[in-house]
Amino acid sequence: MRLVETDYLVVGAGATGMAFVDTLVAQSDVDVVMVDRRHRPGGHWLDAYPFVRLHQPSAYYGVNSRVLGNDRVDDSGPNAGFYERSTAAEICDYYNRVLQEHLLASGRVRFFPMSDYRGSDAGGHHFVSRLTGAETTVTVRRKFVDATYVESSIPSRHTPMYEIDPGVHVIPPNALVDLDERASGFTVIGAGKTAMDTCSWLLDAGVDPDHIRWIRPRDGWFLNRAFTQPLELVASYMQLQARWVESAAACGDATDFVHRLEADGVMIRIDPNVEPGVFRGATLSLLELDALRSIENVVRLGRVQRIGAKHMVFDETSLSTDAQQVYVDCTAEGLPPVSPRPVFETDRITPQYVTIGVAPWSAATIAAVEASGQDETRKNELCPPVAFTGETSSLLPISRAGIAGVFARSAEPVLSAWTEHCRLNPAREAAEHLDDPKVQEAFTSLAANIGSAMENLEHVLA
Ligand SMILES: Cc1cc2nc3c(=O)[nH]c(=O)nc-3n(C[C@H](O)[C@H](O)[C@H](O)COP(=O)(O)OP(=O)(O)OC[C@H]3O[C@@H](n4cnc5c(N)ncnc54)[C@H](O)[C@@H]3O)c2cc1C
Repeated sequence: MRLVETDYLVVGAGATGMAFVDTLVAQSDVDVVMVDRRHRPGGHWLDAYPFVRLHQPSAYYGVNSRVLGNDRVDDSGPNAGFYERSTAAEICDYYNRVLQEHLLASGRVRFFPMSDYRGSDAGGHHFVSRLTGAETTVTVRRKFVDATYVESSIPSRHTPMYEIDPGVHVIPPNALVDLDERASGFTVIGAGKTAMDTCSWLLDAGVDPDHIRWIRPRDGWFLNRAFTQPLELVASYMQLQARWVESAAACGDATDFVHRLEADGVMIRIDPNVEPGVFRGATLSLLELDALRSIENVVRLGRVQRIGAKHMVFDETSLSTDAQQVYVDCTAEGLPPVSPRPVFETDRITPQYVTIGVAPWSAATIAAVEASGQDETRKNELCPPVAFTGETSSLLPISRAGIAGVFARSAEPVLSAWTEHCRLNPAREAAEHLDDPKVQEAFTSLAANIGSAMENLEHVLA
């Protein structure tokens, strides 16, 4: 058995673990051991479907110390007018370079891939090599960091919850590009971002919308991508912030809140006649929205229980089908709900969302707060968890936590200066665009409404 000693043991080298470690080693002189059961850093991106892209611009994804992509606005294609969005291959290459050229090169980070973390006891923390079975025990001088807490659930690593009869062709979206037999049609199962990506890809690849059947038990709310742009287009993101806080200040409940944002064009839904019950922070462009609306065969019969050669069985009814249909399983949750847990505990850090919807920015913020050396109570005040449940109703508690965190961190001069320059912060260039009337208007609105937004959220949530 090998023995290792370190200041921080970080389990998980996905976007969360990488952004956390990158900022921690930049802000403090510590030693870190990283462990992941996968063969490289990158987390779920290593197994993503081949046509996946970031939902958000690359300009504020990854780690603080290194640019991802070229911070360029696309001038053609479906993303024209918006900042570029990396593919999974680009993201995986990026994380590998961050690890090799920055973290390992610092001499203060060691990485153990293909290693399963097994827990801790009085003797220390234990992980086991998936290749050799060799066990390593780690003595942690400062903290254990669980960077798996908001781990993504993805189709290629997920077992569908419904029964599948023999001979029925159910595949994850990853396998779509390898199909070698003509399908009579495609049934896409799921209502989230993966399902939307799959439908968009099928349409782009020339599949007739009438040959796509979309099983969508619950519809979702999506952020209009036009409002998530940083850098030269940061006015858009500042407008999102301002409209969000105005809605929080005026709403009577979560439905009212989201409808106000819809009226402002910030939130969108595929079918204007259906009230969505889901919000997972995914973004969508109006171009994608138009294409998705061309799929008219939408099935809202609840969850699938079984797929047979002739029938799909739902909770209370069934639907006839045919044996040549290809079913694309997009039911993995992506961002599964987590039970609330403080970010900072005496000997443990649990990175999770502390900003609304940007995983790397949250993880880097938590590392910057950890490096500030304050006590655990104050650190938790600076990082209230923004706990996504996936339900539209969670919009109000996540807004309250998100605004409270921004408020608390802005009162700390060092942290505030770090935030202003952090490349993972979508608003980082706002102060340099004060001559833009839309940025000015957003700042004025935020200053006028942030207090009443917190008051109203407390009132409505009480
Ligand atoms: C298709 C898709 C697109 C997305 N797009 C965006 C986006 O544009 N912007 C955004 O902010 N978020 C996006 N997300 C949300 C996403 O959750 C985060 O961006 C982020 O990649 C999640 O990283 P993570 O490190 O938390 O989890 P993961 O990527 O799942 O990484 C967790 C890691 O922990 C390891 N691990 C787990 N348990 C153990 C163990 N016991 N021992 C050792 N290792 C272990 C796993 O192997 C894995 O590598 C997207 C999610 C999906 C699925």
